[in-house]
Amino acid sequence: MNLLILAGTTEATVLAKYLAEAGIGAVLSYAGRVKRVKPQPIPKRVGGFGGVRGLCDYIENQAVTHVVDATHPFAVQMSRHAVDACAQIGIPLLAVQRPPWLPQKGDFWIEVDNITEAVKQLDRPRCNVMLALGRMHISKFFIHPQHRYILRLVDPPKNDITLTDFKSIISRGPFTYQEDLKLFKKHNIDILVSKNSGGAATKSKIEAARALAFPVIMVNRPALLRERQEVETVEEVMHWVVHMSHDLGVYT
Ligand code: NAP
Repeated sequence: MNLLILAGTTEATVLAKYLAEAGIGAVLSYAGRVKRVKPQPIPKRVGGFGGVRGLCDYIENQAVTHVVDATHPFAVQMSRHAVDACAQIGIPLLAVQRPPWLPQKGDFWIEVDNITEAVKQLDRPRCNVMLALGRMHISKFFIHPQHRYILRLVDPPKNDITLTDFKSIISRGPFTYQEDLKLFKKHNIDILVSKNSGGAATKSKIEAARALAFPVIMVNRPALLRERQEVETVEEVMHWVVHMSHDLGVYT
């Protein structure tokens, strides 16, 4: 087997460890959004493929036999390309998608369908806003300069943050409830903007917002890609891999 793992998530990292332990051939693929990629026990490649055509070329040139889409639930373009490329070439694709978070007692969520709608929700008097979104959407909040924004980023900002009043905190998840509680108290956060990423690694911010009883503008998941097979956990991916390898007669 020669798996291509579309990465950028905790699930991809855990899967890489399991595959290395099982001695199954695989490559992790990163978009290259963050500067420092954590060391991994299997080979990696970095950068876009160049659309569906580029991904097809990569699959063929590298003799990829199976693709696992372990990208973030909001990375819809990459996921779409994976569906199209695997269908064109005729190799199996499995996506691992953690379930979304669900509101619990004590949560005050303002649910929106996209970042533009999230921005509209900040048309309100000055407050301290925690933007837990990743840097690519931050510039959209420029139209509400009355707020103070707290950003949590993996890499330090250069001149790419166009907000007038902001503080960036450089750190990489997973985060703990205590850390987030402390952070939110320190910066007197009044409101959190978050994608509904799901999973455990970044859930602590939702729990901390609940404890401090402030609202969360929650960006809902993009529409499902119905043409692909999906599982929720890395363990299920490993079952699929073992099943596929039995079909190929390469794993006992
Ligand atoms: P996206 O909008 O779906 O993808 C944009 C383009 O980036 C793709 O068309 C592809 O370029 C390239 N790309 C994305 N993921 C790639 C991968 N794993 N390997 C190689 N190329 C990749 O994705 P995004 O939302 O910008 O996210 C980029 C990466 O960050 C993803 O790997 C995702 O898992 C990770 N991430 C995203 C979020 C989020 O909120 N979106 C959060 C955490 C982590 P080509 O068309 O040139 O192939």
